[in-house]
Amino acid sequence: MPDIKLIQCQDALVAGPSKTITSKTEKQWNVRVSPSVNRSRNPIRETLASITANTPSSSKAPINLGLGDPTYYPLHSPPPAAIAAVEKAVLDGKSNGYLNGVGSSEARQAVVDYHMRWDQVQYSIDDVVLTHGVGQGLDLIFSVMIPPASVERSNILLPRPGFAQYTALLANLDAEVRYYDCLEENDWEVDVDMLNSLCDEETRAILINNPSNPCGSNYSREALQGILEIAEKHKIPIIADEIYGHMTWSSPFVPLASLSTSVPIITLSGLSKRFLVPGWRFGWICLHDPLGVASSLKKGIQCWGNRFMGPNSLIQAALPTILATEPEWYDQVLSKIEVLAKIVHKGVSDAPGLSATFPSGAMYSFVKIEEGAFPALQDDVAFATALYNEQAVFVLPGMCFGMPGYFRVVLGTPADVMLDVIERLQEFCQKHGDL
Ligand SMILES: *Cc1c(COP(=O)(O)O)cnc(C)c1O
Repeated sequence: MPDIKLIQCQDALVAGPSKTITSKTEKQWNVRVSPSVNRSRNPIRETLASITANTPSSSKAPINLGLGDPTYYPLHSPPPAAIAAVEKAVLDGKSNGYLNGVGSSEARQAVVDYHMRWDQVQYSIDDVVLTHGVGQGLDLIFSVMIPPASVERSNILLPRPGFAQYTALLANLDAEVRYYDCLEENDWEVDVDMLNSLCDEETRAILINNPSNPCGSNYSREALQGILEIAEKHKIPIIADEIYGHMTWSSPFVPLASLSTSVPIITLSGLSKRFLVPGWRFGWICLHDPLGVASSLKKGIQCWGNRFMGPNSLIQAALPTILATEPEWYDQVLSKIEVLAKIVHKGVSDAPGLSATFPSGAMYSFVKIEEGAFPALQDDVAFATALYNEQAVFVLPGMCFGMPGYFRVVLGTPADVMLDVIERLQEFCQKHGDL
């Protein structure tokens, strides 16, 4: 099962200086951590620890559908040309030095070309900052945009259900976090009325995640236009986490920046999902600012980008090749995910007490546990814990995404493993169901 070493943030919290010192005159070690360490929780890691604390009673082979890491089984091999390009970068010895904090010009140009080719959005290399994954990109953009409370109050709008890292990264910043709903009955699209009602003078950014983790949704052009209208009305920029950009099958992905003729859009993407190499830790930020109203943001991103050296020089050297990956390779990956999406959808529809909308993007199915369907399992955590114990199948409860009453299935196994999952899930639901 997941061999994750857990570092609980809570362990780091020390209430104050050590109390073992006896002499009154002796100065005490001032070893303490910031209270924000205790505020920063990662519910995914914590839930993983609690569910997998005991070995399953089942003798079946464990199946991990918990972590959103496409290399776990693996789903598919990374693009061969990408591997060759990294190998070449290692061997030619030309990429061992420090690079510009925001990234080398060649690598940023590769990002510009990639977004032109796939999104038909024109950036210049000054609009691009390379980061150590989207995670660091988010951290960078949040800290650029959010002021200390002593200076000004602020808030930021996040999706619910949504990716837990957003909240974890915001824990050491002073913005109030407000959640807008994504509606299952509407293919998990954004509740725009709610989004509208949450915006005020202090809103610094709206964050959208499309295609979505954990919903597996892919917003329509009209839905994105609706979000842009609200941002336009309130004059608020949008952070678009498009790490799953173009990972769709039922309908084409629409990049938010391609629709915006006024709203500043900060798009984040990277190699972790579409290119199947999350361990390479590589991402980027692109600023699309059609009216030129966000030059302070542009400066801020550049400035913060230079606080660190940019991401790994070897991957930067290989980036032009990686990002030029042929469409056929992505199609192979997507057709595998789509097959899994169909298996899960059919299997869940046939299982008593479960239902799910058919996912159209990313690599997840977000499954609803019908209320009252499993009387002995009081919530999604109890459901996931019992499923792990009895069937050795690990899924993340919706609670990890701010949405109790659901669980998330990662569409990243070979098809035969997923068929096995469905059999176990149906057996589990038959056993626990009240029907
Ligand atoms: C996996 C994921 C990321 C990727 O983060 P990296 O730091 O680039 O690995 C970002 N956003 C969402 C919603 C994700 O699911």
